[in-house]
Amino acid sequence: MKKVLIVGLGIAGMSAAISLKNIGWEPVIIERASERRRGGYFIGLFPEGIKAAQKLGSYEEIKIRTPDDSIENFEMNKKGKMKRGISFSDQPGNPQSTLRGDIEEGLWQTVDQSIKIIYSTVPIEIKQKDQVVNVKLKNILTDVVQTESYDLVIGADGLRSTVRSLVFGSHDKYMKSLNTMIVAFQMKKDLPVLINQQSITLVEKNRSVWFFGLKDTNPTVLFTYRTKDIDSQFIYPIKDVLKDKYKGMTGENFVNHALSELEKAENPLTDSVHQVIMPKWSKGNVVMLGDSAWCLTLYSGMGASAGMMGANVLGEKLSQSPEDIQTALENYESELRPFINKHQKLAFLKSQFFVPSNLFYGFLRSRIIKMKAKQKFKN
Ligand SMILES: Cc1cc2nc3c(=O)[nH]c(=O)nc-3n(C[C@H](O)[C@H](O)[C@H](O)COP(=O)(O)OP(=O)(O)OC[C@H]3O[C@@H](n4cnc5c(N)ncnc54)[C@H](O)[C@@H]3O)c2cc1C
Repeated sequence: MKKVLIVGLGIAGMSAAISLKNIGWEPVIIERASERRRGGYFIGLFPEGIKAAQKLGSYEEIKIRTPDDSIENFEMNKKGKMKRGISFSDQPGNPQSTLRGDIEEGLWQTVDQSIKIIYSTVPIEIKQKDQVVNVKLKNILTDVVQTESYDLVIGADGLRSTVRSLVFGSHDKYMKSLNTMIVAFQMKKDLPVLINQQSITLVEKNRSVWFFGLKDTNPTVLFTYRTKDIDSQFIYPIKDVLKDKYKGMTGENFVNHALSELEKAENPLTDSVHQVIMPKWSKGNVVMLGDSAWCLTLYSGMGASAGMMGANVLGEKLSQSPEDIQTALENYESELRPFINKHQKLAFLKSQFFVPSNLFYGFLRSRIIKMKAKQKFKN
């Protein structure tokens, strides 16, 4: 039985484990954290992701939290009035709303008990010889190092991937900044003023705040803003940075409410936004998958979907060429590349919808939403 090491217990890593186990491989997952992470932020799951999750046999296990269609959504206008907007699900493809943790929980139902997982462990050296990948694994709690051999290693360890830096080179070779920041978290309670499941978006040039109303759980918040000076965003506590960045924003009471919720939030995510652009996703018998390979960013709305799709394609190609891993990895790449390239290009445009960089995009965005809201509620 062929053995695969998967680095990272996220959406891509778990999907890869399921997909490769289904074709008769023996997967082992290592995860840097000491336990499986939970919770997370809003995710829109597009039809491609739904199909991929179904193929993995996990879709039924993912809790879908799309608000009821009758629920109203709002945009804050320049005068501070709440105007009718559209929901995330009203865009082409009608994505379903869920949380990152819900997708991971869904995949976990298959992974748990059937796949070996080693926590608090990272790769520190990866060497290849004669189709064998020798990996030095370090337990970061005990500092114990041991070397294991695998037929294949999958780097599914996210944006700042260790596998990528060990095998392909340093982060700055592959990470392309979009000059934007995000802070994302789930609130402990509903928003005052809005009723259950309603959403509101506050968008101005270079800064926005999104409140995503969800079914059967509290809303999530996304702050996203543009800056050319990414490094200095990490010097002070993020709450102070946001207070400064969002000073004077129309709808300040919503901003203040979100800031007070940020203090109570469990594991809020603060990060700069980057795409990963790799000319090739594999070297020998090491292959990259998910954000570590192509990070599409939140603006694409496709990162989770692409991770699951990629895992399915990888499994399919390995099962078609069981004795020729190189050919399988090349076929994996040639099938997936066009989809990834398309969504990497689209992400720049879509980022203007999330946080317009000038008044023209801001104007265009509000016209489109006004028109869509009118169509939706004309009856
Ligand atoms: C705010 C926000 C909103 C988003 N919205 C959407 C959306 O609407 N739709 C959508 O499809 N996608 C969305 N995405 C993108 C999506 O969440 C990601 O693309 C997806 O979760 C990436 O999964 P992954 O498994 O590739 O990486 P990760 O989720 O980053 O998982 C990597 C795992 O590897 C582990 N790890 C890291 N380093 C090591 C190491 N050295 N050794 C061992 N383990 C390691 C980490 O602890 C982690 O568990 C959004 C992202 C964000 C931030």
